Amino acid sequence: MFDFWRRALFFPFAVLLLSLLVWATVGTLLATLFFSVSLLIHLVLHLRQLEALDYWLADSNGRAVPDGPGLWEEVFARLNRMVRQHRKEHEQRVAALQHMEQATSALPEGVAILDDSYHIQWCNPLAEQHFGLDSKRDIGQQITYLARQPEFVQYLAIHEFSEPLVLSGARQDGLTLSIKLIPYGGNKLLLISRDITHLERIENMRRDFVANVSHELRTPLTVVNGFVETLHDMPNLENSMARRALQLMGEQTHRMERLVDDLLTLSKLEDTLNVLQEETVDISGLLRSLHQEGQSLSAEKHGLRLELASNCALLSNADELRSAFGNLISNAIRYTPQGGEILVSWHEQGDQPVFSVQDSGIGISPQHIPRLTERFYRVDSSRSRETGGTGLGLAIVKHIASRHQARLEIASEEGKGSTFSIVFPASRRLPLRADEAIAT
Ligand code: ADP
Repeated sequence: MFDFWRRALFFPFAVLLLSLLVWATVGTLLATLFFSVSLLIHLVLHLRQLEALDYWLADSNGRAVPDGPGLWEEVFARLNRMVRQHRKEHEQRVAALQHMEQATSALPEGVAILDDSYHIQWCNPLAEQHFGLDSKRDIGQQITYLARQPEFVQYLAIHEFSEPLVLSGARQDGLTLSIKLIPYGGNKLLLISRDITHLERIENMRRDFVANVSHELRTPLTVVNGFVETLHDMPNLENSMARRALQLMGEQTHRMERLVDDLLTLSKLEDTLNVLQEETVDISGLLRSLHQEGQSLSAEKHGLRLELASNCALLSNADELRSAFGNLISNAIRYTPQGGEILVSWHEQGDQPVFSVQDSGIGISPQHIPRLTERFYRVDSSRSRETGGTGLGLAIVKHIASRHQARLEIASEEGKGSTFSIVFPASRRLPLRADEAIAT
């Protein structure tokens, strides 16, 4: 403060002293003139600095603070420091805001801030997607004006947010959202939306699966029950009729047994704790054994050939391969009429080992092919059941293939036949060493 006054008064005092000197030597008039002109020049210089400051204040955006001599030098230096500090703080705030925006954009949930009358104050990109918003256009709008599903509007109207709202058919087709609102800060609400379409689908699949299994078991159980009641009500039933009834009951219990076996196989394959036990499997040996089993299943009704074009072994699980390959061979036999041809082959496509079964059977029309590996999906249910099918065979094959990072390829033409191939990754191909091969 003292320094300020010392510098501020230095010039007027100097002028005053010089004027006194002029007064003593030259006279009053000239001294007064000298004093007045000097002070006027001093004032004009100050006003010019003030003008520069005013000009800068009117539009300081990005421009440097003006320079000035004397007193003004200190004032401008302080202003400069303040501006620099202010810009630094502003940049820090912008960076923090960007950081927050990036973090909320990366959130797997939609987040929006609403005021107490549900006007949108801010939202992240996922909330924009979930509610079909555009943050540039819709900030300040009431959310119920943009997302008008009656359940959502009612949920907000009731203002009871202890339970989340499950909203199906939100703006995007088939989207199911779980919406939660959390009041905070007295008059604000945090809206959190989560896409649970996938969970809903899994829940539906689980429900369908239970319904399908119950349905599959109910038919044979009804048949067995019917025969048991008949045998009970008619103790003097003719021997041949009783034997026939017992035979049919046996067939139905076998059917249930196969179904339960396949269900257990599927659940074992789906068990995440059940990791693939890998070994070197001699595919030629495995296929020779499966070929023999196939021939007895076919009972010489088909021309069943085995072609071993590759002698490579496979890093895989022998039991699982037996199940997958066996399923495909048995399907070819079951869906190929008498006299048809079936070719089982092991060959290589580039460096990828391939197992395939080609048949000249009934074939499959194209619209069914993408759904064949769904559980219980059958093109012709009665044929499948008549031939002892459970509807789970290809689901099992697909699981086993994916556990080996292999893909199941299906090519078929209705009335002409089908080819089912499992294409293994090259990394599973092994040169066969007799001492390593698993006996199959
Ligand atoms: P299923 O026990 O009914 O045979 P799968 O899962 O093995 O069940 O097969 C599903 C459906 O795919 C079958 O019901 C059948 O309609 C069709 N399918 C499977 N393999 C063949 C094939 N080789 N030729 C014609 N259709 C087939």
